[in-house]
Amino acid sequence: MKSDSTTVRGRFAPSPSGRLHLGNMLSSLLAWLDVRSLGGTMLFRLEDLDPDRSWMRYAEQMADDLLWLGLDWDEGWRPGSDAFRQGLRAQRYAAALDTLQQRGRVYDCYCSRAERLAASAPHPGEPGDSGCRCRLLSAEELQTRQRLGRRPARKLAVDTCEIRWNDGHYGPQRHELRAGTDDFIIRRSDGVFAYQLAVSVDDMEMGVTRVVRAHDLLDSTPRQIWLIRQLGGLPPEYCHAPLLVAPDGRKLSKREGDLNMEYFRLHDTPEKLLGILAKLAGLRDTDAPVSAAELIEDFSWDKVPKQNVIVPENL
Ligand SMILES: [Zn+2]
Repeated sequence: MKSDSTTVRGRFAPSPSGRLHLGNMLSSLLAWLDVRSLGGTMLFRLEDLDPDRSWMRYAEQMADDLLWLGLDWDEGWRPGSDAFRQGLRAQRYAAALDTLQQRGRVYDCYCSRAERLAASAPHPGEPGDSGCRCRLLSAEELQTRQRLGRRPARKLAVDTCEIRWNDGHYGPQRHELRAGTDDFIIRRSDGVFAYQLAVSVDDMEMGVTRVVRAHDLLDSTPRQIWLIRQLGGLPPEYCHAPLLVAPDGRKLSKREGDLNMEYFRLHDTPEKLLGILAKLAGLRDTDAPVSAAELIEDFSWDKVPKQNVIVPENL
């Protein structure tokens, strides 16, 4: 399905938990080129959902870093604004939770904090919470747990079903959701809404039609599609971007201090960094300096590799 260019809406959606690193910049560049090449509208949404891992100084720095590279947006958060901040949209997530609850899709989970954390963050490869039996508790067992005084997390009960979607970069995908095993937390026991719920509600309510993000979030996609459908929405098109990895195969992360924007802004021009990113993304054969706007015309997902991209040691 090809998007109608008059209605294309994409988004930047960073979590302000540290400086942007090279992998974030690559995903951001591809998200921007995707929308700009389709003549669409770019949004900026701040994913400051977790109060313990969100700092406004990083949010402001991220906005500044994107603009420094020439990656602009048309709607959304700007420093000093309250709009498009997940941290201020709890009422919207509560309304979605109510809808799901009315549909009999929500149950209390009394599992330990460690299991909750594993289930609430989109970290593929972490143990899921398939050991959770809370969906099957009898009324009596539930009362026993309630009397112990522990606050439950709220969990979404999925149906066993096959989810299919056509990834804008990786092509046709299919994934089986399994009732019980693939149920997931939509509000943590401390009251903070979970990433999966917030991102699904936001993409729906903000009219997002194209989601470009790193490949490590591919595993979250079937859950989000299912959740959006439960809320009566139409899932966006998803385009996953290859991951950048170190020469030893490790995924680059925000902890990789030497490859974050602080370093690049001290040592490079925006055009030089964009040249490096464009070459890593397969968009050009050379890493010669280039502006973001110059990359729009020849942008095509066909040029972007599907396998992980190794970042050379002497970048
Ligand atoms: Zn449980």
